Order: sequence, then structure tokens, then C-alpha cells
Amino acid sequence: MKHFIAFSDIQTSRESVLSAEEWNRTYHFGGSVIRNESGSGLSYIWGNKLLDCDGIIPGLKQTNINGVICKRMVPQGICVVGPYILISAYCSEKKHHSVIYVVKNSTKEFVCTIRLDTKSHVGGIAYDPVYKNLWVCDSSNSSNYRLLAYRMSTFQWDVTQASWNKNQSFSMTHFAQIPVDVVPSFCTWYDGMIWVGEFKKSGEGTVAGYSAYHVTLTRGARFSIPAYSQGISFIRYHGLVYCTVTMSHGRKNDSMVSSYTIPDYRRKEKNTTLSTTHIKSITMPSMIEGIQIYDNLTYAIFESAAYQYYFSRKNGRSKTPCDRICVFSTNFILC
Ligand SMILES: [Zn+2]
Repeated sequence: MKHFIAFSDIQTSRESVLSAEEWNRTYHFGGSVIRNESGSGLSYIWGNKLLDCDGIIPGLKQTNINGVICKRMVPQGICVVGPYILISAYCSEKKHHSVIYVVKNSTKEFVCTIRLDTKSHVGGIAYDPVYKNLWVCDSSNSSNYRLLAYRMSTFQWDVTQASWNKNQSFSMTHFAQIPVDVVPSFCTWYDGMIWVGEFKKSGEGTVAGYSAYHVTLTRGARFSIPAYSQGISFIRYHGLVYCTVTMSHGRKNDSMVSSYTIPDYRRKEKNTTLSTTHIKSITMPSMIEGIQIYDNLTYAIFESAAYQYYFSRKNGRSKTPCDRICVFSTNFILC
């Protein structure tokens, strides 16, 4: 008898890993909104702030990487590339290559998986729409903190081809690696600059800005961010440049999303330290990771529904796991 593997057995999963009851509990997470450093918190129900266009993060149950199955992917970074949302993830067992899931933004449908040429704990990702490069944080080697650059000029073609192949995946190989002088935990592209941030367990972390000309990065301004930062995004709003930072640590602690203005942003290309002014902080369910502000919508992901944190009971688990690509109004995040 011919050995037969059903297509559904090897497909990258798209279904929720949470029961309706668990999602309901997460949905009803009671958070607070703090408007400035001295202001008191207003309470809110987290799920009520979700716009009705979220989608499930693919691959949490299983990911097909060019025919190889991984059941231990942990989602980390998020960015928008044209009509797609990209989500980076690494294998918590370090057995498999890191990946990027490609999801159609309009429907949140899974399109395909990109196999990256690294097994390291990939963090944030950023898309430079000017030079059409995807930047991936690689902090695995402490003597070689770097960003990996992937060419995106044939991305649309590659994605369309991969969406039709059996494994719904394709490989990408970096064509440049650029050293950076902070631990590259997360990054974002904004206004011609790649901003690279470090996760720190105590004290403040640093975000370092680099002007991007193709894959040449020239060091620019930097600024401080709180401990436990996990993701960053920028937007210009009513004439001011805002920076939003996600923070989380541990399975049980609430996450925080804090927004700042950068009054002296025009000095971004100089080798100086910028100051930030705190505007608003919002508590959220535990284990938030990447964030991307894109016009009036803000996307965020959590790692709490990854196998390592959700199914593996030995270290406890999040009380409010989230397996969705969450979509908020940017207004809620900033103002
Ligand atoms: Zn794996």
C-alpha cells in the first residue's frame, strides 16, 4: 500500500488554538488607560477595542516549512508589506529554520510561509518600501549583533507562486548583513530610517536610528525606551512624530503599550540623543510582541498562544492567551 499523507496533515495551521471559553476570557481582559505620567487610569474592556477584522496567527499548531513540519513556532515581529501582513517566528526547540508568515491584510487569510536562512531567535522585522528590502533582527551572536537584509523585488511573484505549491512555502536568503551597535531585538522602518531597539530586563533600553541607503546604514539619533520593550512603530499625526512601544515580560504580567512624541525628531539623522514625551499608556493581556502602526490601523501580536507558553504547562501559562493578529484604531493607541 502506498504511504499517504493527507494534505490537511501537513498544511500550516490557520485555526485558533484557544477554546471559545479561553478567548472569551482574554476578550474580557480588564485593562487601564493612563493618559500621562501623573494621570489616573481609566478602565476599559480589551476586546471592545479590537476592530472587527482580526485574524488567527497561522502556524501555531504546525508550520510546513518547505515540507518540514515544526510545531514549536513562536511569533515575534510584524510589519506590513503592500497588501500583506508579515509575521516572523522562531522555533523554540532551535531545530527548524525561522520563518515569516505571509497573511493577506484585507481578509487575514494565510497565504504562504517564508523559510529564512537562519535558525536564530529572529525578532522584529521591518520593510523599507523605498529600497524594497526586508530587515530581520538577529541577536543570536553576542559578538555579531546584526540585521539581515532580504531583497523583496520579486516578493509578489514569489508569494503568488508559493501560495499554489504543495507546502505553501518558499525560501529566502539574505544578501547583506549589517552590524548594529545595540542588541537588535526589534526594528521598524520610518521616514527613511531603520530604528533598532533592544530588550532589556532592567534599566532603560536604547533605540538606535540608522539612515538607510539601499543596505548602507548610517548611524543617526538614538533615544531611551523602558525595560521589557518588545516592539516599536512610528507615525506622524497632527504634525507631530509619535513612537509607540510595546512592553511585556513573563506569562502572568500585563503587557503595556506606551506612546510618546519626539519633539526634536528633525535631528534624527544627527548622532544625538532625542528626548521623548510620554502621552499615553494602555495595559493589555500578557506577552505582547510586535506592533505596526499603519495609517489609521494598528496591528499587534502576542506570543502567549505559542506551544512553548500555551501547551507546555511546566512553567504555568498566560491567563489571557491571544492567538490573533489584533487590529486597533490608531486613535485608541495614540490619543
Ligand atoms: Zn521547530
